[in-house]
Amino acid sequence: MLDNFSDNISIVLVNPSHPGNIGAAARAMKTMGLSQLCLVAPDEFPSGTATALACGADDILSNARVCATLDEALADCRYVVGTSARVRGVSLPLVDPRECARNIISEARSQGVALIFGREDKGLTNEQLRRCHLQVHIPTNEEFSSLNLGAAVQVLCYELRMTQLIADDSLEMPKPRSHDLASMEDMERYYDHLYQVLMEIGFLDHSSHEKIMAKLRRLYGRIRPDRVELSILRGILSETQRCLGVGKQ
Ligand code: SAH
Repeated sequence: MLDNFSDNISIVLVNPSHPGNIGAAARAMKTMGLSQLCLVAPDEFPSGTATALACGADDILSNARVCATLDEALADCRYVVGTSARVRGVSLPLVDPRECARNIISEARSQGVALIFGREDKGLTNEQLRRCHLQVHIPTNEEFSSLNLGAAVQVLCYELRMTQLIADDSLEMPKPRSHDLASMEDMERYYDHLYQVLMEIGFLDHSSHEKIMAKLRRLYGRIRPDRVELSILRGILSETQRCLGVGKQ
C-alpha cells in the first residue's frame, strides 16, 4: 500500500490461542503491505512457532503491540471493524469484505482504523462486537463458515490491497517477456516460403491456393507472431524442405 496511509490500519487479534496463527497473520499482512499488528492478551507470545509461521515477516512480530485489554488496543482508533464467522444478531451494519475494504480505506486516509479478529474457538464476543462500527463477514459456506484465523486475516488484507490498488490506479501485473512483433516484410517472406512448401508437399494446387493462402493470412493476422515465433515457423518450413530433399530457402 502507498505512503504511510497503511500505518493507520491496525490488525487486532483478540486473545489468540495459537501462536502459529499470530505468525500466519503477520505473514498475511506483510504480503499485502500492512504492518501494524496488535495482540490483545495472546496466550503465548513471543513464540518460536509464531516466528516460524511468519516466514520472514519477523519485523511485523517484533513491532507488534501487545495490550492487556481490547479497550487499550482501541484507545487511539476512530473507526473499528469487527470480523465474524457467523452472522451475529448484534445491531451493526454487516458488509462483505469488498465493501468493508472501501470503508476502511476511506476512513484510514485521515484516522486510525482497527480491524479486529476473534479467538479461534469462540470468535468475538457480543461485548467485543459492541465496540465496532461495522461488522464484516466473509461469505463462506453457510454449513461450514469458519475460516482459520490466519486465512481470515489474509482474505481481508487482500481485499484492502486490491481496493487500494484500484483506487490509486496502480494495479499492474507483471507482463510475460515478449519480443517485437514480426514486421510486415518478414511476414511477406514467411507467406512466400509457406506457399512454396505447401506446393512442394502437394497441399496446395493451382486451383485452390489463393483462397487457402488468404485464410492462412487471416489466421496469422489473428495470432500476430513475434520475431522469435516467426523464425521458429521459418525453421519448420526449412526443415520440411530438407526432408523433402528440395533446396533450402
Ligand atoms: N468458532 C468461532 C470462529 C472463530 S474463527 C465462531 O464460530 O465465531 C477466528 C476468527 O477468524 C473469527 O473470530 C473471525 O475474526 C475470523 N473469521 C473466521 N471465519 C470468518 C468469516 N467467514 N468471516 C469473517 N471472519 C472470519
